[in-house]
Amino acid sequence: MLVTDDIQALSSAVSGPVALPDSPEFAAETFAFNAGTVHRPDVVLGAENAQDVATGVKWAAARRLPVAVQSTGHGANFAIDGGLLITTRRLQDLQIDPDKRTARVGAGVKWRSVLEASVPQGLIPLHGSSTDVGVVGYTLGGGLPVLGRAHGFAAEQVRSMELVTADGVSRRIDAETEAELFALMCGGKGNFGIVTALEFNLFPLGDFYGGAIFYPGADADSILAAFREWLPTLPDQASPSISLLRLPDMEFVPPPLRNQFVVHLRFAFPGNREDGDPLLAPMRAVSAPLMDTVGPMDYLDVDQIHMDPMDPLPYMEGGVLLKDFGEKAVAALLELAGQDSGCPLIMIEVRPLGGALAKGRALADAVSGRDAAFLLFLVGINAPPAAEASHASMRGILAAMAPHSTGSTLVNFHGEPGDEADRARAWSPAVYERMRAAKATYDPGNLLRFGHAITGVSSAT
Ligand SMILES: Cc1cc2nc3c(=O)[nH]c(=O)nc-3n(C[C@H](O)[C@H](O)[C@H](O)COP(=O)(O)OP(=O)(O)OC[C@H]3O[C@@H](n4cnc5c(N)ncnc54)[C@H](O)[C@@H]3O)c2cc1C
Repeated sequence: MLVTDDIQALSSAVSGPVALPDSPEFAAETFAFNAGTVHRPDVVLGAENAQDVATGVKWAAARRLPVAVQSTGHGANFAIDGGLLITTRRLQDLQIDPDKRTARVGAGVKWRSVLEASVPQGLIPLHGSSTDVGVVGYTLGGGLPVLGRAHGFAAEQVRSMELVTADGVSRRIDAETEAELFALMCGGKGNFGIVTALEFNLFPLGDFYGGAIFYPGADADSILAAFREWLPTLPDQASPSISLLRLPDMEFVPPPLRNQFVVHLRFAFPGNREDGDPLLAPMRAVSAPLMDTVGPMDYLDVDQIHMDPMDPLPYMEGGVLLKDFGEKAVAALLELAGQDSGCPLIMIEVRPLGGALAKGRALADAVSGRDAAFLLFLVGINAPPAAEASHASMRGILAAMAPHSTGSTLVNFHGEPGDEADRARAWSPAVYERMRAAKATYDPGNLLRFGHAITGVSSAT
């Protein structure tokens, strides 16, 4: 049990705030973007700098307290109960090197800040569907970008990282220095340490063609059939995805779409209208769109492709990798999630993988999904009265899609982590075994045990 002296020892050794559950700052400091998740650590430290992170980890290790980390709380699909929570949102260093085409960011930086600094210099990072997400949490989970089929996973672009491992040691690692730890941090999530800074490659920004088409949900059958036939005609450069949306009557939803069941096609292509329009033409002809925003796009408007919510919401997630999205898979999905199914989920998304996402790099990193053809991702509201029905619907859809699944998932889309076997599904068996060995080396006391963390060899046997 923590006593006053313990808390004073931490408070006096760090620059950032330390809050206990009965402090007025506790709720704001632990707040997650996923507002359905309420964290209850024994103590929270708002790190001001990398030194605070190291001090916090050492302090917790000395007291055998588990340690968790949060930046934005977009990935808060589990509650942190007990231990020390270190928040990183104050770590806002951000440097762009236009000559080397790299960015170096502190652990609290969101993708929006990187874009605002890099786009004026003609460079873009491999962010995902929402630039409100944190760079580090996203990238450590592999990072499936909006332009994924063109450029691959974000974790492949990491050049180096600074982190504090569970033993409290601060390290700077890259493909040459502590190569196995570096490889496993790229896709292995926060299993071995808390990252304080990340350096990664940027890509030149040329023409960009992108946006969204919304169709009436009543046409979902024919739209999904057309989508399947259209995909093989696309070049790797084009990154489309599609979702069935049951949009709430909320402000972030454009008025014509509020309270509607719609199909949402997303399209991202590093090219101009001349090349983009013919690629998209078959999908423009398939049904009368309710809204079509696809065209040449200012890259700073890239959030308009997926139109993810920007304000905190209570949500639950679940995702699996699919080996196919053929006729039978589409029929199974529509039976449980189509127009008349009564499905309570707000989003059922299918992201085609392949292209550069299937290729990888020389480094044997921990990124999953290169062998899969699609990602199926489900989102429900995690608040009464929808929560119970959403859980049941999610379980039903995942079970019905099991024959089409590879059996694995991407850790960033896994949703609520279950037991060890369930958490292991986010990595291939070979990577999982390497991670268990590394966990035993860098975190033998299993300090970093929350959420998607796996168990090391020594404590599992
Ligand atoms: C609206 C929305 C859109 C999304 N779009 C995409 C997408 O297109 N592609 C994609 O791949 N993912 C996507 N995600 C998933 C997202 O990448 C993960 O939820 C990711 O974990 C969010 O990171 P965060 O730091 O913002 O969240 P947090 O909840 O703060 O962190 C989540 C987890 O990341 C790890 N972590 C965070 N910071 C550190 C650190 N400094 N050191 C070590 N570990 C750390 C920890 O395990 C932590 O529990 C999306 C999520 C949302 C809510």
